[in-house]
Amino acid sequence: MHAKDFPPEYLIAVHRELLATIAAGNVADPKATPGWYCRYCTGRLVCPSASMEIELVERKIAYPLPEGKDGEVFIDQVKRVSSLCDQIIKHYKKRLHDDPGCVGIWRISEGDEYRSITDLEGAFVALVSDGHITQDEFMECCDGHIGKLEKKYCNRAGKPAVQAKKEFNNLLAPVVELKRKAGSLEKAKELL
Ligand code: SF4
Repeated sequence: MHAKDFPPEYLIAVHRELLATIAAGNVADPKATPGWYCRYCTGRLVCPSASMEIELVERKIAYPLPEGKDGEVFIDQVKRVSSLCDQIIKHYKKRLHDDPGCVGIWRISEGDEYRSITDLEGAFVALVSDGHITQDEFMECCDGHIGKLEKKYCNRAGKPAVQAKKEFNNLLAPVVELKRKAGSLEKAKELL
């Protein structure tokens, strides 16, 4: 579709609307009103109305916090500010990923490790043939909750927990995959 497909009056109206929107964003007292739709807005980090809302929330953060209708509005504002802050953190994570060291001592941590069974049948054979876990008990834990299986195994093993956990992990090593969650922002230890 080309500009020629639209009547000139329509294009002039769109042009005026665009100019008005740009002008509204540039004034000291912006007319844009934050709302639920902000979550879909790609301009949040440069929107004066959104950053002004941070100041509004900041001013109200003191006991007693507003309740009733005021509280209703306040919670909406807090949620918007909280999601805006999440967006700011996301921005920094990306920046630190692309350019480590770009914000002083902040860095991206390694993230927590977590296990998931990749071969359920292999886990079944390993644990049931080892004798500490019955077939029924294995099936009870078949929501893939590795922690539950580990607890049951350790209870039966009659050994110190650390040793039992080590044996459990060794038995499942061929059928378990270790994954890592996304890291969070952390401060690096300052050099002495
Ligand atoms: S962030 Fe600003 S420009 Fe975007 S929808 Fe919210 S108020 Fe409007």
